[in-house]
Amino acid sequence: MKTIDFSKYSSIRIGPLAQVKIINKIEKENENFTVIGGANNLLVSNNPPKLAKLSKEFDYIKEKDGFLYIGGATPSGKVVSYCKKHDIKGFELLQKLPGLLGGIIKMNAGLKKHEIFNNLTTIKTVNGYIKKEDISFGYRHTDIKSIVYEGVFEKRKGFDEKLFEYFETLRKNQPNLPSAGSCFKNPPNNYAGKLLQECGLKGYRVGDMGFSEIHANFLVNYGNGAFKDAMSLINIAKKRVLDMFGIKLELEIVVL
Ligand SMILES: Cc1cc2nc3c(=O)[nH]c(=O)nc-3n(C[C@H](O)[C@H](O)[C@H](O)COP(=O)(O)OP(=O)(O)OC[C@H]3O[C@@H](n4cnc5c(N)ncnc54)[C@H](O)[C@@H]3O)c2cc1C
Repeated sequence: MKTIDFSKYSSIRIGPLAQVKIINKIEKENENFTVIGGANNLLVSNNPPKLAKLSKEFDYIKEKDGFLYIGGATPSGKVVSYCKKHDIKGFELLQKLPGLLGGIIKMNAGLKKHEIFNNLTTIKTVNGYIKKEDISFGYRHTDIKSIVYEGVFEKRKGFDEKLFEYFETLRKNQPNLPSAGSCFKNPPNNYAGKLLQECGLKGYRVGDMGFSEIHANFLVNYGNGAFKDAMSLINIAKKRVLDMFGIKLELEIVVL
């Protein structure tokens, strides 16, 4: 067990001190815990479920027979650097997309049409290897219920420098304040940020939390943001968008 201070560890800088089990090996009993990665998409309450985290044992990149085997605790930045250095394509989207590979796979993280599932072939869980074809996935969604210990990807030659720079540029328009990335998923054929802005919520604050003045779909922490303020804003936004447009916003952030 390790004590983690979520007000420091989580990217949105909210949450309690909590006991987290450190997983060193693959075993059934780990499934009784909610696994966290880098906490870049989490909003942790004062009463979270039993938590666990993969140890450094799962931070690796190996190559075999034309495939990359990447451990679930490997940070996104390490993957991009490796692929840049070894001229491998398909991971450019991870540039400045914070997270550990397990969390990135679980969320099917990505940007526009570029998603981690694009060149994923298999994941490793307590039940062995599971093929991508046997996983239901879509925009920021997968039906993965177990801990992801490893992702296996096709190794494709040709790191795309242009695409990498394109992602760099997109990131420049993002708020710098602590956040958990996009707060809501984009509804079909629409943009959550646009809807929030049209409801007058761009820059709207409760306590030290607010929808960013730069991008309305980023719930940002201005300093001492609290869980309850974040939840108030989420509920206000859901209600206003439903009342004004009849659209039910779905959270992208995971509340624990
Ligand atoms: C500044 C900023 C920009 C961002 N930009 C983007 C973006 O462009 N696109 C995007 O998609 N996301 C973005 N995000 C959100 C975040 O980076 C992604 O959701 C990422 O996948 C989170 O990874 P993590 O390791 O931090 O997971 P966590 O936040 O720790 O966990 C997220 C979810 O995954 C589960 N999980 C974690 N590890 C595992 C595992 N090993 N096995 C199974 N389940 C697991 C958790 O239980 C939780 O449900 C951004 C966040 C920030 C702060």
